[in-house]
Amino acid sequence: MYSLPLRSVFIGGRWVAPRATGTIAVENPATQHQIAEVPDCDSADVWHAVDAARSALPGWSATGPAERGAALTALREALLEHQEGLARTVTREMGSPITFARRVQTGLPVKVLDGFIDELAAATAQERIGHSLVVREPIGVAAAITPWNYPLHQAVAKIGAALAAGCTLVLKPSELAPLSAYALTRIIEGIGLPPGVFNLVPGRGSTTGAALAADDGVDVVSFTGSLEAGRKIGAAAAQSVKRTCLELGGKSATVVLSDADLATAVEDGVHSALHNAGQTCSARTRLLVPRHRLDEALDVARAVVAAYVPGDPEDPACLLGPLASAQQRERVLAHLELAARSGARQVAGPGRPERLPHLGHYVAPSIWTGVSPSSPLALEEIFGPVLAVMAFGDDEEAVSLANHSDYGLAATVWSADTDRALSVARRLQVGQVDINDAKFNAAAPFGGFRQSGVGRELGRHGIQEFQEVKSLQLPA
Ligand code: NAD
Repeated sequence: MYSLPLRSVFIGGRWVAPRATGTIAVENPATQHQIAEVPDCDSADVWHAVDAARSALPGWSATGPAERGAALTALREALLEHQEGLARTVTREMGSPITFARRVQTGLPVKVLDGFIDELAAATAQERIGHSLVVREPIGVAAAITPWNYPLHQAVAKIGAALAAGCTLVLKPSELAPLSAYALTRIIEGIGLPPGVFNLVPGRGSTTGAALAADDGVDVVSFTGSLEAGRKIGAAAAQSVKRTCLELGGKSATVVLSDADLATAVEDGVHSALHNAGQTCSARTRLLVPRHRLDEALDVARAVVAAYVPGDPEDPACLLGPLASAQQRERVLAHLELAARSGARQVAGPGRPERLPHLGHYVAPSIWTGVSPSSPLALEEIFGPVLAVMAFGDDEEAVSLANHSDYGLAATVWSADTDRALSVARRLQVGQVDINDAKFNAAAPFGGFRQSGVGRELGRHGIQEFQEVKSLQLPA
């Protein structure tokens, strides 16, 4: 991996000194040591970056699918070439276990780019509707505001879609995990995009992010993160009526129907809740099981959670690293206190506190039962290694329990009968449902119903978030 110019920002195809003088310290959450410092950009830097993106727009928006596809393919190849260095960077900046970082944090972005490459022609194709020719055009300059939980993946999902659509863009990565964004920028620099097509401005959400969302030169804001920040970004963007794509939180469910292979289903549900220390927007943090099989399910869950021993995320055997920040740990611990007071019962974890590493923002995994559907444990996105197990009587009750949420991002339905699983899946008010062990599809639309967000990412639907649609009525 090459060195990262961490004192600079990337604007107009060059690494330049930021106009702002402030900096942000980056900490390794496993050691609590400061590992880097990046600029804390201000509105002048944002303006400079948006201006560069606007200047590059006429050129990039005039390119065709072949040129854009070639850029995405070059980016894909470069990500593969630098995968190990990127995985190590993600692990150091946000604590994801290295094996998970290799497989998912850096493996997923490659699949996401494959999805864009495969769908590029379909996403940009024109169609005839009666005497109209309907064409798709790049919307303009995009702002990508990304979180820390999958820092590389979130950035690539937005950059790939914007470039495929013919947009130019400005990326503002999370202030907690900006190093992988610097590494990605170095990689993008290497693939030779025209100057200004891609720009990087690190900084805080309330300043740099807010300035970007409000900037009149930005045509679309694509954001992933918390509901609270999503609401603010939506409000800021509304002032100039710019489009917003919001990928927010979730409280997703694993629904284990009565005829399912319970051991496999519960094991999968526990892994979904605990991997990346529970810091996944689509983590299935509710496990819904038939009432008469609850004890059996809890036994399986206990056995699976035992493997999630908090440890050094740089150890390839580690399954559970620290949470990404001290603030995140405090939030999760506050939720656990609330859960204990709500009458829910802990059936596994947190184990002996002395088993937690001495340093680092660790939280032991925990599994809870006796969870009231109206309690915060059942309703709120905790973003830590916490699973609520709840019981239902029949499929009807399972559907109603799963839909009892302000969120609607994802779910998995397990059944021995695919038709029965599909019938339940169709009634779930969420953006994605996996049936049994179905794999994630990086070209299928990803996004949420209700407060899980607005819009869809990935594949053709993701590219179309960055397009305007124009009807050209043809003469008789
Ligand atoms: P956040 O939403 O505050 O930050 C995400 C990104 O948005 C960061 O780049 C941040 O700088 C930026 N941002 C924040 N406020 C902004 C504003 N007003 N205008 C423009 N940009 C802004 O997330 P967080 O504080 O890092 O985490 C808090 C909680 O959010 C987590 O505990 C979790 O529940 C949730 N979260 C969800 C996801 C997800 O993928 N759905 C990701 C990260 C965090």
